[in-house]
Amino acid sequence: MEQWQRMLRKSIDSSDDLVKNFGFDIKLANELNDLFHTRINPYYLSLIRFKGDPIWLQCIPDIKELADDDLPLDPLEEDKFSPVPSITHRYPDRVLFLTTSQCSMYCRFCTRKRKVSDPTKISMKFIQTGIDYIAAHPEIRDVVLSGGDPLMLTDVMLEKVISALRNIPHVEIIRLGTKMPCVLPQRITRKLCKMIKKYHPIYVNTHFNHPWECTTEAKKACEMLADAGCPVGNQAVLMKDINDNAEVMLELHRKLLAMRVRPYYLYQADTTKGTNHFRVPVRVGLEIMDKLRGHTSGLAVPYYVIDAPGGGGKIPILPEYVIGRKGNNIILRNYKYDIFEYPDVVENETILPKNEIEQLEPELQTK
Ligand SMILES: *Cc1c(COP(=O)(O)O)cnc(C)c1O
Ligand code: SF4
Repeated sequence: MEQWQRMLRKSIDSSDDLVKNFGFDIKLANELNDLFHTRINPYYLSLIRFKGDPIWLQCIPDIKELADDDLPLDPLEEDKFSPVPSITHRYPDRVLFLTTSQCSMYCRFCTRKRKVSDPTKISMKFIQTGIDYIAAHPEIRDVVLSGGDPLMLTDVMLEKVISALRNIPHVEIIRLGTKMPCVLPQRITRKLCKMIKKYHPIYVNTHFNHPWECTTEAKKACEMLADAGCPVGNQAVLMKDINDNAEVMLELHRKLLAMRVRPYYLYQADTTKGTNHFRVPVRVGLEIMDKLRGHTSGLAVPYYVIDAPGGGGKIPILPEYVIGRKGNNIILRNYKYDIFEYPDVVENETILPKNEIEQLEPELQTK
């Protein structure tokens, strides 16, 4: 057994553990644990500094999860876009491939908690049908391995999946969507990196939400992946009392860059049942983005996106930088709110027919 597997065995992994370690009432512990399985491995547990801190909030169940919040179980309607159980195919040229239900730590805000941790919903027995689906669809050139966490598979099993994908000629890139560099960096071993190296191009997207997660161990894991030739990106989720302020986000994203991780997405929290207490207004996200762009390396600035409820996919949102037009000039403001005019190229013909402009304008004015 490898070190990371031994560590996993020492996880807080049941309602009894919640009672023993955090003094939960057993009835409440059972209720929360039934709703979404609790698992906190000893590494991630060690990052907690005090009760209710940004690490605690991400992994320790909270009574607020039981609130009758009227939110859907599957806000992104992933299941509607699921032609076979292990595949979500929502975009023309790429798919999500769910390979395991397991994670080394279950994030209380998980969007996919209706499935994650439940081996009857995501299972290795659906892996072959997923591979067959991808092989039968030549338009798929990008496969995102997800779950759960695909690095919960053993190296041998993971290699079987990756090599099967590599044998499909139209699959150009493979992405590993894994939280391991953040939650159990000991999973990134030399042996794993050596295996991954054989199947490039492999991209890794990981998931750090708070600067306290950027430890020596995490840095080492990310550097090993980068040294193995994987571009490593980060997908963070904006959450209340965890990272909903600009100073924390700046520090997080600067630290990630220093660990050779390129910020990719910052997600507005999804409207998943039992996670309403994590949500913050979009205004807060926009203000944070406004305090990143221009104030630090452009490399440290992720795209702020809303994964549109109802299956619309990820939609980027930006603070307003275009203030208006003056004749042929567009009026812009920079990160310091200084105003500039850019002389736009004069076009001979009106692009939109007149009636369309008229339809657009009143709508814009109401915003
Ligand atoms: C996020 C996502 C992808 C990948 O999207 P990118 O914007 O290319 O990173 C693919 N499929 C689904 C269903 C997704 O949710
Ligand atoms: S690691 Fe990802 S899939 Fe697993 S619980 Fe966290 S958010 Fe959900």
